[in-house]
Amino acid sequence: MLLIFILISNCSSDSIDNFNNAKVFPLLSKLLQKDYFKFYKVNMLRPCPYWPDDHQCASKECGIQHCDDEVPLALRKKSSIIPASNEVEVETVSRSGSDCETSNQFDPLDTSLSEYDRAQLRDMDTFEDTSDRFCDVEDEDSADMHYVNLSKNPERYTGYKGNSATKIWQAIYQENCFKPDPKFDKNFLLHPTTGGLCLEKRVFYRLISGLHTAITISIASYNYKPPLAGFGEGTWYRNVEMFKGRFGPQWGQEGLERLKNLYFVYLLELRALQKIAPYLKTELFYTGSTEEDQETRAIMNSLIQIATNIPESFDENEMFKGVEADARLLREEFRLHFMNISRIMDCVGCDKCRLWGKLQTHGMGTALKILFSDLPRSINGNGKSHIPFYLTRNDLVALFQSFGRYASSIVEINEFRRIIQSSIKSE
Ligand code: FAD
Repeated sequence: MLLIFILISNCSSDSIDNFNNAKVFPLLSKLLQKDYFKFYKVNMLRPCPYWPDDHQCASKECGIQHCDDEVPLALRKKSSIIPASNEVEVETVSRSGSDCETSNQFDPLDTSLSEYDRAQLRDMDTFEDTSDRFCDVEDEDSADMHYVNLSKNPERYTGYKGNSATKIWQAIYQENCFKPDPKFDKNFLLHPTTGGLCLEKRVFYRLISGLHTAITISIASYNYKPPLAGFGEGTWYRNVEMFKGRFGPQWGQEGLERLKNLYFVYLLELRALQKIAPYLKTELFYTGSTEEDQETRAIMNSLIQIATNIPESFDENEMFKGVEADARLLREEFRLHFMNISRIMDCVGCDKCRLWGKLQTHGMGTALKILFSDLPRSINGNGKSHIPFYLTRNDLVALFQSFGRYASSIVEINEFRRIIQSSIKSE
């Protein structure tokens, strides 16, 4: 039985298509255009930690523009770290205290304050347990971090391919997907979704493959045809042949599996959104513009209502179970492998692909942090009750924007299917 059917209780891909295409995607598209969600802060200059940089892409489509001056002042203030529940006990490191001094303070989230006010009030560094971080996120106040307006730099075809792109995907699959026990499966790379891997490792593979599928679908949906004879502008179009070539019959069952992996990531991120829904309901999404913020909250509330009415689709409690020490080790291995993948994104040789690769691993890492932060503690049973994780605005942007890429890809799969079916009928 396929893993997706083990983890998806009530959802078939048809029912996901229905609620995504009719309800989730239209609202999400509006939300991602709002100021709070469209400005992402990113360091594009971080060197590749694994091999000499080849940050060269000949295509003009690879370029991105920073937009620091365009960003509302309220968003540009010191990055705020926000708790993900209404009433939480926060472990903080006080600035005035000694380096190691910790204090526990009860910190109800005061919704009458703006996010910026709260950040000001909480003018102290917040202690975050780095063992909860699934991706390598930089200090937002670092000088190399700049804002990018994501709505002006959409993910699409850039012409990035060849050795550099192949090396990245190979590094991701061969070095970072957990290796199976060779006695079970000697052909892991040919059939990576089959035997010899425990649930967690198969989930890991499905996440990476689902991310890869979404990137491929973005490229096929927004593909570029250069101008005839090299004059004038080219055209953007939906490249049906490319879609067929990447997922069609020549791949056999594997093509279908790759599409299913996309639905799998979608459901995992949806589950993360469901889990932080109580916090999202009270968040002000403050940008300094009353009208803009009201609209953002209204869209968010409608989206949460829809998302929380969808039956829970992914059961994170099924993971990292079993013997306590083994489960903790496995969770740590999972986290470190994912962290590695987020670092590999700094090696992507095309700026736009690197931007979206970094954002999507950040979004997925945020979802994993939301889903799995409290698991080792409950496994651990150390009885320490404190908030299991923190989220910055940038974390939320990455989470929602990456969810947006999966939601859009599901819409696109249906479009490709429709076009392919109607061309078969007319033959
Ligand atoms: P690739 O997509 O490079 O795949 C390599 C091999 O991986 C395939 O032959 C297949 O065996 C296997 N594979 C493919 N899909 C899956 C899957 N879903 N699950 C498991 N295995 C799979 N190009 C753009 O034009 N725009 C972008 O925004 C963009 N972003 C990128 C972001 C990243 C992080 C990377 C690494 C590359 C990006 N690229 C982008 C390049 C793009 O992903 C392809 O590498 C390129 O189009 C060449 O495709 P390909 O046919 O060689 O197969």
